[in-house]
Amino acid sequence: MLRRRRKFLEEGYSCPVCLLDVEETRDHLFFGCSYARERWRILNINFNGNLGIYQRIKSAKRCFTQPFFMEIFMIGAWCIWQERNAVVFENVAPDLHRWKATLIKEVLLHFPRINPSLHAPIQQWLSLL
Ligand SMILES: [Zn+2]
Repeated sequence: MLRRRRKFLEEGYSCPVCLLDVEETRDHLFFGCSYARERWRILNINFNGNLGIYQRIKSAKRCFTQPFFMEIFMIGAWCIWQERNAVVFENVAPDLHRWKATLIKEVLLHFPRINPSLHAPIQQWLSLL
């Protein structure tokens, strides 16, 4: 795994993922950060940054072409959070391939909580990532 320089709290509240001098807010970490945008783009989830959080999610859901938007959105956000924590607490650099593998594993782990009629379409969709 790639290592990067650990950022200490005394150094401020800037995003630990992209290392830009941007405050680590919810909007930055999950929507504005270049790493998050890259991950949503791979999932074909597009957020309009000009909208408030609820309208932004509703708009993205309308544009998502599959009937399992919330499942993928929630797990995708969870995986972004896990990747952020790996940066902060384990000093591990973000890695798109590892993130994607984690997302697929997490989606499959959530199958008992997902409507069985969606399992086959989700598996097919995941295979195309
Ligand atoms: Zn960032």
